Amino acid sequence: MDANADIAQNIEAIRHTIPAGVEMVAVSKFHPVDRLRAAYVAGQRIFGESRVQELLDKIPQMPADTRWHFIGHLQTNKVRHLVGHASMIESVDSERLLELIDRESLRAGVVSRVLMQVHVAAEETKFGFSPDELIGYFERRGFESLQATHICGIMGMASNTDDEARVRADFAEIARTHRRILEAAPDLRGFDTISMGMSGDYPIAIEEGATLVRIGTAIFGHREY
Ligand SMILES: *Cc1c(COP(=O)(O)O)cnc(C)c1O
Repeated sequence: MDANADIAQNIEAIRHTIPAGVEMVAVSKFHPVDRLRAAYVAGQRIFGESRVQELLDKIPQMPADTRWHFIGHLQTNKVRHLVGHASMIESVDSERLLELIDRESLRAGVVSRVLMQVHVAAEETKFGFSPDELIGYFERRGFESLQATHICGIMGMASNTDDEARVRADFAEIARTHRRILEAAPDLRGFDTISMGMSGDYPIAIEEGATLVRIGTAIFGHREY
């Protein structure tokens, strides 16, 4: 089978399961650019990468209207290189990182669009704010000091488990965190993105309120790390 033909078919099949108003990031980390091009030809425009250098390497090899979402843990020493190249940084997992993104964006003369990463999953190792930490940030109105960063919403992951009830509860908690932030800061504008759901669980995420899903394996097949 031609793997690149599969990609177009996979995208088409997944699109049929995604309602209007929900966007899809094609998570292309660890996949070579010819696979991304096949997705582009099938109409996909937003790609997700988890390493700064890989993202930067791929940009010049793809058409100019390709949009890049950064979805991995962002090390502070890489912020300067990423700012201005990602249309969204989905994985802001500390106030320190957010402040650094803001400072570097100001310096570069760009406005960065970001999502705050919320941690609700069972796994200890995942990065992100707890729901209460994140709500606290908005109650304190920390965002008011940002000069070149627009917080567009939140991103999260469900527990890595076959227990569908647990996965659903995790997504519900992410959506509830988004609502509670809007209650804490009702004047927030453009805080409307809830990024949640991956290949194995995105239909549940959509039922629980996702506006953006991040799908890798179901489009590109398994990654070779
Ligand atoms: C790798 C990754 C995905 C995609 O996962 P799949 O199971 O391959 O769809 C989504 N979100 C994040 C944050 C990731 O790191």
